[in-house]
Amino acid sequence: MSLGEPSARTAEEVVARAAGAASLGVLDAAVADCFACPRLVAWREEVAAIKRASFREQDYWGRPVPGFGPADAEIAILGLAPAAHGGNRTGRIFTGDRSGDVLFAALHRAGLANQPTSVAADDGLAVRHLRIFAAVRCAPPDNKPLPEERDTCAPWLHRELSLIRPTLRVVVALGAFAWQAWWPAMTAVYGIRPPVPRPKFGHGAHVRLGYLHVFGSYHVSQQNTFTGRLTPAMLEEVLGAAGRAAGLM
Ligand code: SF4
Repeated sequence: MSLGEPSARTAEEVVARAAGAASLGVLDAAVADCFACPRLVAWREEVAAIKRASFREQDYWGRPVPGFGPADAEIAILGLAPAAHGGNRTGRIFTGDRSGDVLFAALHRAGLANQPTSVAADDGLAVRHLRIFAAVRCAPPDNKPLPEERDTCAPWLHRELSLIRPTLRVVVALGAFAWQAWWPAMTAVYGIRPPVPRPKFGHGAHVRLGYLHVFGSYHVSQQNTFTGRLTPAMLEEVLGAAGRAAGLM
């Protein structure tokens, strides 16, 4: 945020700050300075203070986690929220946790990331054609944001989508929460009402709306990858379809 701009501390202030963000850089700074959800602010700061034993020597980020990737992205990957000891620790989305290990290995294989690992904000990772962000920008307890927290955070997502809209062609929603968050975002940003009935989430779900493609993928959480519900091949398949739909492969 520009010098002197106050933090967003209410839902109304999120709306105003998001609307006033003229670039991704300004938006990212404003997101990182948001305190609008008391429960999530308390949780992210508590996790950052207590820490996991294996990370006790590290300084946790303990703040909202902005999106990552270039402004001229053709593909957006929409997740749920940062992980308590992943993004909430490192300050970068899908960084420093098992979910990120799976996601970035697949993105690297697909030619969308310069390296297969994402361990720290200064690890040299770069993505191309791709912007990654979450529907809720603060780590929630049990990975479960409340509906009102999702709604309070939505203007950040909607503004981010508006800023990359000129090049955006494909959205990959990781998990049912992101899939649900996409449809109001689409209405807010594109003025398009979701098809009725609303498309059902599933792995490989695909909806085409004009030039815009929306894909669903099971989330890259350990719950899915450790149990084999989501395999590397399954993720690769969706990313390949996304890349082809975006005209990149
Ligand atoms: S979840 Fe979103 S709106 Fe709520 S405090 Fe975090 S960044 Fe702000």
